[in-house]
Amino acid sequence: MNTDQLRDQARNSLTRIGATVPDGTDLYARSPITGENLFGLRAVTADEATRAIGDATQAFRSWRTTPAPARGELVRVLGELLRVHKSDLADLITIEVGKIRSEALGEVQEMIDICEFAVGLSRQLYGRTIASERPGHRLAETWHPLGVVGVISAFNFPAAVWSWNTALALVCGDAVVWKPSELTPLVSLATSHLLDRAIAQTGAPAHLHRLLLGDHTTGSVVVESPQVSLVSATGSTRMGRAVGPRVAARFGRVLLELGGNNAAVVAPSADLELALRGIVFAAAGTAGQRCTTLRRLIVHNDIADQLAEKLAAVYSRLPIGDPFDEKTLVGPLITDAAATSMLAALDRAQADGGKVIAGGRRVERTGGAYVEPAIVRMPRQTAVVREETFAPILYLLTYDTLDEAVALHNDVPQGLSSSIFTSDLREAERFLGPDGSDCGIANVNIGTSGAEIGGAFGGEKETGGGRESGSDAWRAYMRRATNTINYSSTLSLAQNVSFF
Ligand code: NAD
Repeated sequence: MNTDQLRDQARNSLTRIGATVPDGTDLYARSPITGENLFGLRAVTADEATRAIGDATQAFRSWRTTPAPARGELVRVLGELLRVHKSDLADLITIEVGKIRSEALGEVQEMIDICEFAVGLSRQLYGRTIASERPGHRLAETWHPLGVVGVISAFNFPAAVWSWNTALALVCGDAVVWKPSELTPLVSLATSHLLDRAIAQTGAPAHLHRLLLGDHTTGSVVVESPQVSLVSATGSTRMGRAVGPRVAARFGRVLLELGGNNAAVVAPSADLELALRGIVFAAAGTAGQRCTTLRRLIVHNDIADQLAEKLAAVYSRLPIGDPFDEKTLVGPLITDAAATSMLAALDRAQADGGKVIAGGRRVERTGGAYVEPAIVRMPRQTAVVREETFAPILYLLTYDTLDEAVALHNDVPQGLSSSIFTSDLREAERFLGPDGSDCGIANVNIGTSGAEIGGAFGGEKETGGGRESGSDAWRAYMRRATNTINYSSTLSLAQNVSFF
């Protein structure tokens, strides 16, 4: 598709959703498919962002006392609107991020799933009753809404990351302000408008959610505002390093979801055909632009040549091109700079003795940064392998013993996702155990990417330590109060203290 067609398609999707684009020249919606601009947009000023946070704080004051199941109704309606506009939103994701259709639809499905999860959760925000050491006393904990949640999101999941945070925050009784990636303003305008419609339909407070279009300076307003109780920031480790300490300095809460450098171990007993499919989707899918993308493959020496050959054969046939073409499996990189950094990483890897066994070249097309996903056999885990390059490069390393594989696996600064392909129960359990993978996500016989929403999502070390989405991740969006209730007629002090 050319830029005019993309612009028309984006306009049509936005119109069906009912969203309007605020005209301006502060930032530009663009498409990585052609590398050209679609619309100029107006960003919010710092004063407007501050006022929006104030409005959200007001909305929170009434929302926090709305019963949680009634708050769930808002999220239920949002989920319905997402179902109705699934195709329009997926189109906008493909236009702005370059995801192939199936993955763009998958991202919207993930949003629908988290809404359903959050609706159920709205009746399950439970605390514990704890045995009190004093007679005639009850000890319990209660969970209360926290305040305004500031969501800062990355370009590569322009809508799903917002929904993980927002669906949970809303049922937990919080208001939300959202600073999306400056690379994906259209997706955020559309998504935010659907929530505005759900708010109007259910009679929830009008300013419960505010969209703050802008770059990192707008993000800074969210980070610095004492009215923002929790900053949930998804993006690069560099961003997290800048954001985390500033929120901590004002004693705000921070939830960081940062870069990964994910690996899979392939053991001699692995089902190689299954492993092959898992590896290719995790490494080349989304053009290597997932935080959970497989970037390192640690293969047993006995099967390394065989697997490398199979992988290289599949890579040589990967269809690369326009993500709207249904045969395409690898769309464009987000920017030209991403392609440049991929080629620079490949140069460094080769200087370290790495051998490119598949792909690694720029695909010549007019407009857009298209690359062949690459596989590089490395003699060692050198500095470039230990960094996250946000592009489809898979470094292949080899091992002889599982101890060696686990040591290589964990010897990177990041700790997001991991997997082992094996048919040996002992190896699998060792990998999942306390001296196995040090990541927040550890899988067996499945790749590193494509998590379900039901589990908690996030990672350790430089990935930031945050957890979002399923399981008990909701607790990050609430504050806990411990209650001691004395229903006796005597005042007894804990630890047998006597006084007065
Ligand atoms: P990025 O760090 O460039 O930007 C992310 C967001 O942070 C944007 O909205 C940006 O405007 C904002 N930002 C940047 N600096 C800021 C600052 N100093 N103050 C306030 N806001 C600031 O990331 P990106 O290129 O959009 O996304 C790719 C990165 O995100 C990769 O490293 C990827 O691994 C990571 N990511 C992580 C997860 C996860 O869940 N762990 C999910 C998606 C992406």
